[in-house]
Amino acid sequence: MTPSPAPSEHEVSQALALNFCPRCGQALADRWAYGRLRRVCPGCGLVVFREHKVAAALLVTNEAGHVLLVRRAWNPMQGYWSLPAGFAEIDEDPAETARRECREETGLETEVTGLLDVVAGREHPRGADLVIVYTGRVTGGVLAAADDATEAAFFPPEALPPLAFKATRQTLEHWYRINISREQ
Ligand SMILES: [Zn+2]
Repeated sequence: MTPSPAPSEHEVSQALALNFCPRCGQALADRWAYGRLRRVCPGCGLVVFREHKVAAALLVTNEAGHVLLVRRAWNPMQGYWSLPAGFAEIDEDPAETARRECREETGLETEVTGLLDVVAGREHPRGADLVIVYTGRVTGGVLAAADDATEAAFFPPEALPPLAFKATRQTLEHWYRINISREQ
């Protein structure tokens, strides 16, 4: 896959499609502010600072060292596999997001055991800007795919199914390297 060119500052400032001031309702304009092009309100002076959309994922392994993956029910990347993951609610600890998404998609109760990775960069328009990836282990529940997943299963690291996202691949490679270095 060829990497897409970096968006221009104008595209970045407009990408929210935020056209009217959320404070006073006037049409926003692109202005230079705080070192880059931003959406600014000519009426009340509000400068729009875009905020990251945050998702959390959970890398769960079983006693055999196999990793829990879910098969995506919807586009983007429908039918491909990823870690249980989803968007963090604004008032939710992302570690809890990871556990909740895992419960919703796989039926398994888990506990978070560590922080594995933070993957930056939005891969598709409806994606997250930051994906926080935790490690976890199963504490209960029964494995059964639901919600955004059509299947849920454990896979050995050397025989993974087709993966959905760069973030998924990067995270699994990171996890695999850590495991290899522990075994040596
Ligand atoms: Zn305004």
